[in-house]
Amino acid sequence: MLTATTSQSFRHQAQLLTAVLKIIAVFSLLIGSLNVFLFAAYLVAMFNFFTAMTSGAILLFYKRTENLHLASWLTCLAVVFNVAVFIHIADGRNYSILWVMIIPPIVFFLLGRRIGAWLTAIVFVYSIVFMAYQLQQPRQETQGLGALLNIIEVCTALWFLFRFYEGSRQAAHRELEELSATDKLTGLANRSKLDNLLFITHKQLSSHEIQTATVVICDIDHFKRINDELGHLEGDRVLQALAHKIRANVGSRGAVGRWGGEEFMLIFANQDVQTTAQFCEDLRAAVESRISSSQSTLTLSFGIAALHPQHSIEHALLHADRALYRAKQDGRNCVRCAEGDV
Ligand code: GH3
Ligand code: MG
Ligand code: MG
Repeated sequence: MLTATTSQSFRHQAQLLTAVLKIIAVFSLLIGSLNVFLFAAYLVAMFNFFTAMTSGAILLFYKRTENLHLASWLTCLAVVFNVAVFIHIADGRNYSILWVMIIPPIVFFLLGRRIGAWLTAIVFVYSIVFMAYQLQQPRQETQGLGALLNIIEVCTALWFLFRFYEGSRQAAHRELEELSATDKLTGLANRSKLDNLLFITHKQLSSHEIQTATVVICDIDHFKRINDELGHLEGDRVLQALAHKIRANVGSRGAVGRWGGEEFMLIFANQDVQTTAQFCEDLRAAVESRISSSQSTLTLSFGIAALHPQHSIEHALLHADRALYRAKQDGRNCVRCAEGDV
């Protein structure tokens, strides 16, 4: 099964593959034109145009087959081959050797750490041997415009590649962060995110950034019966629909998350217990309904407690839980506040 993480890296890899192929095609066409019109270097220009065509062909192959693995290999081999041939044609002059620098960012990303490391090492060792050989050749040479262009082109290619890399890394990080904070079934904040929100709210109270805060635990009444009657899958759908409804009702007033199985948590900053109790009463009435095609009714019980800067978060949770327990004992489908808070 494809996990969220693997499908993300697959998407980023596919994006880089197409970006690299397009950049190579555009670069090769540009450089080829320069070689024709500026340097009359027709052999190199022909090679440049051939490179552009190869990139186009691989891109087409990938679009048709969606075989990312093979397309990645073809791209990397094409890049390595092109760089090597280019350096040879240029005979190592005009800083052409600089082009080997674009290989690691491409092959590491497309072929992974192990093969990327091997391929880069082979190309680097080969380049060093090539340069060592070149040093022994007697040569009188002044650097021309070609040297400047090589430096500009390699710098531009690296700029694009690393810019893409960082963007892709940041996007992957954001997606992972979001995934790790989201409950899979309901799409609400999960428990770990709620813990974090409680911690932040408690800190804000301690530093007097906010004056009051309340925490609510609400629990579906007799959810086991709903599951028993309708089946677990339908039970899941009830949970999803309810989560959606609670989220819509809370809106921007506060935070909502799934605290556990059929329990939700609401956190309100700058809202006292009385106001929260009234809000929960309205929410309770809005949710209360008969589940279609069944004997069951959907109702919620609520337990509310204030967060206090002088007491721990656990203290507030314990009191909210006790209030919820009283709501259950008082017949369910009702709202109860922690005793010290009213
Ligand atoms: P009470 O009114 O006392 O809260 O009764 P209850 O039946 O809701 O509470 P109980 O703790 O006995 O049962 C909770 C049920 O919630 C049991 C469990 O199967 C169900 N549940 C927990 N998580 C999920 C879920 O993700 N999907 C479904 N379908 N059911 C779940
Ligand atoms: Mg429960
Ligand atoms: Mg329950």
